[in-house]
Amino acid sequence: MKITAIRSHVLQCDMPEELGYSQQFYAKRTAHLVEVSTDEGLTGWGECFGPGNVALANKTIVERVIAPMVIGMDPLDRDVIWHKVYNLLRDHGQKGMPIQSLSGVDIALWDIAGKAVGLPIHKLIGGAHRTGVTAYGYGMMLKRESVDDHIARFTDEAAAIIGMGFSATKMKTGLGPKADVRLCEAVARGVGEARFMVDANHCYTTSDAFYVGRALEELGAYWFEEPIAPEDLDGYRELRAGLRVNISGGEAEFTRWGWRQILENRGIDIAQPEVCALGGITEYLRVLALAHAHFTPVINHVWGSAIAVATNLQLLAAMPPMPGGLNPWEPMLEFDTTENRFRDHLLTEPLDIQAQVARNGGRVAIPTAPGLGVEPDLAFIKKYAIQ
Ligand code: CA
Repeated sequence: MKITAIRSHVLQCDMPEELGYSQQFYAKRTAHLVEVSTDEGLTGWGECFGPGNVALANKTIVERVIAPMVIGMDPLDRDVIWHKVYNLLRDHGQKGMPIQSLSGVDIALWDIAGKAVGLPIHKLIGGAHRTGVTAYGYGMMLKRESVDDHIARFTDEAAAIIGMGFSATKMKTGLGPKADVRLCEAVARGVGEARFMVDANHCYTTSDAFYVGRALEELGAYWFEEPIAPEDLDGYRELRAGLRVNISGGEAEFTRWGWRQILENRGIDIAQPEVCALGGITEYLRVLALAHAHFTPVINHVWGSAIAVATNLQLLAAMPPMPGGLNPWEPMLEFDTTENRFRDHLLTEPLDIQAQVARNGGRVAIPTAPGLGVEPDLAFIKKYAIQ
């Protein structure tokens, strides 16, 4: 089999309302899908992490830089292709957009590999350790409104997300340390007995992160995500040693070499690798092995369209229990509860995660069809493609 073409589809639409996190507000939803075609008629789909204009730049990297390197190669030679691209791009970016772009291509190659033998990706990896996974719902995004309005809304939204059937929920912070503690108190009130997590998107200094983190200890938050800049490895180590709340992070890290530093540094309790950014499934499996070699549990970062969600469902199925037992620690599926038509309406047969969560006590089934187990609707892609 030979790769005959690699195309990128950047989908974009206006969101029903502007939303924000600690770094910025955004009003457009973007998804960057990669389509790999072969001479045997099999087509694979992948997704690259990166919103807005980043997706347009990544599209250029996929189509103008990576595609010429791999067209004509056997799509089943995933590891050979990965290393050819990485080695040729090493001088131009060992992290960031080149690796995000490679990720989408690699995921599509795994989709093809599954379709070629009629097996879902989790079977290619080594089988399903679980047939379903519990989802947590994130929401509670920032808006251009007062602190008091945020507080009232966050309490209501936390209760609503738990009411939808999600086992846990995750909020954003970013109004400033003092206001953020009040937001966290509001969410703790809203969730009742359910778990909640806090995502700062690296907006704090280490001392401010200690201030917020001490409040989270009292409130019983399950994890404190990206409290400080991902480059600040010393700060992560100090926070993890000094706080009684799980420190999580890693969504902005790339490849086994970036993850090696994070894990050896001992600064996170929970690793959150992003398969659509860190180098695709091929590299994710190496990062997972590295995380487990450090006895660091993994809960994948999930962002994007139904292709990204399906990719993560395959990986969550194939994630070994660590450390295992009668009642083992289990990963969760991250799920964005805000409107996302590229996730909910992209597929010919939608995953319909929200309905599964409501019906099955927060559980989502792992797709068992070949490859990713899902197929995008080409007419839908055409309707929303901006390039
Ligand atoms: Ca995050």
